[in-house]
Amino acid sequence: MNDYSIKELVNKIQNKEVSCVEVMEFYIKQIEDKEKKIDAFLLLQTREALEKAKKLDEKIARGEKVGKLAGIPIAVKDNMCTKGVKTTCASKMLEDFIPPYDATVIKKIEEEDAIIIGKTNLDEFAMGSSTENSAFKITRNPIDISRVPGGSSGGSAAAVSGHMVPVALGSDTGGSIRQPASFCGIVGMKPTYGLVSRFGLVAFGSSLDQIGPFSMTVEDNAYLLNILVGEDDMDSTTIKGLEQKDYIENIDSGIKGMKIGIPVEFIEEEGLDPQIKEAILNDIEVLRELGAEVEEFSLPSTKDGLAPYYIISSAEASSNLARFDSIRYGYRTKNYNNVEELVENSRSESFGKEVKRRIMLGTYALSSGYYDAYYNKAQKFRAKLKSDFKEAFKKYDIIIGPVSPILPCKIGERCEDPTAMYLADIYTININLATVPALSMPGGKSKEGLPIGIQLIGDIFTEEKIYKVAYALEKKLNLKFEREV
Ligand code: GLN
Repeated sequence: MNDYSIKELVNKIQNKEVSCVEVMEFYIKQIEDKEKKIDAFLLLQTREALEKAKKLDEKIARGEKVGKLAGIPIAVKDNMCTKGVKTTCASKMLEDFIPPYDATVIKKIEEEDAIIIGKTNLDEFAMGSSTENSAFKITRNPIDISRVPGGSSGGSAAAVSGHMVPVALGSDTGGSIRQPASFCGIVGMKPTYGLVSRFGLVAFGSSLDQIGPFSMTVEDNAYLLNILVGEDDMDSTTIKGLEQKDYIENIDSGIKGMKIGIPVEFIEEEGLDPQIKEAILNDIEVLRELGAEVEEFSLPSTKDGLAPYYIISSAEASSNLARFDSIRYGYRTKNYNNVEELVENSRSESFGKEVKRRIMLGTYALSSGYYDAYYNKAQKFRAKLKSDFKEAFKKYDIIIGPVSPILPCKIGERCEDPTAMYLADIYTININLATVPALSMPGGKSKEGLPIGIQLIGDIFTEEKIYKVAYALEKKLNLKFEREV
């Protein structure tokens, strides 16, 4: 079942060669076999999913039209609101929160008859790079279960990599789709800011957050993104009047003559694991064989993005998380005598360490007296970075680089040292600051058999070019990873 692309699977379902129930039963069995070892999900809805699959089969039997994702099981990161279904953000603060509405992306996939099979684990409020900051559980990497799946969308990435679902949704503020995709040996896309609606995504850094797809293959990824995109009245940052592209249409048209740039700063980065460097250099050769022109160039501002990213994202997080006052919803302390204590104690008792760290950092950066020194300066850097990328894309169709400077780490190895964690985001955070799209896909394999991701970055709204290059590279590399689970 998992050898078919989702396009093929939907065709087979529509032609009644295979039923939605059969597909669902296959994936439920996968989950039963593997979830105990991987712990990708915070909530499973297998019974409801099977029920929906049955209904869909009846609809097909009656000859009614079904959607482009008919019968496809999908996992959703637990920071996207699902009507009537718990949405926790892996936080004690929202442990019992049941949203009264669906996120726009949820509506879109359900209108196309996808079936949500569960909500996946993440770093609390999407803050982190290993999924170890979840208040509820630790997720393991299906390729090597002693290692983290990456984060913050580690649950969604592990669910796809472990063949427990064919596709999943994640969110990316500074790498949270791309880095776990890289660690788990799958494909993940962070679309251009404003391409996909954020309505119903619990906000972390509102000017950086984007929802995007995880999949085993480039084609499946493009297929799902086709469905997610579009203007939304409920999110004023979605782009109005944008012509809807079909990311599948010319995906296999090859990359002859395309101009690809690789920033020297990416390759010369001090902390870059030599095995990752080697894999990227090898990919460059492969891209040349495929007919692309690849050359090195300099993009110096990318070296300095880390501090501005952590200032801007934490500033926005501190503001966004101020809404959790435990008055209307969320965790409420038993220990209070007045409103002030109610708010203070509820927040102290329910937010985890990393979330508190970001709130303090963000509040500090925004406080009068420091605002100009930190927040304003970071915004100025962001403007410069954006224009540097714009300039670079006058010359190059695509910019490539690593996704992470490190291989998937062992559970517990890095989490205790937040600065080391932040440093490992060096290749992903600039992309969100610049608002451009980027895809992470398998680009190589380490000696131990661990996946190494390569990042393909495009100018705003050129996702189709990224997919084209990714598709050609995927076919040529034909990488397979052995999975422990
Ligand atoms: N690791 C980054 C952070 O902790 C990115 C997280 C994300 O993209 N949600 O902020």
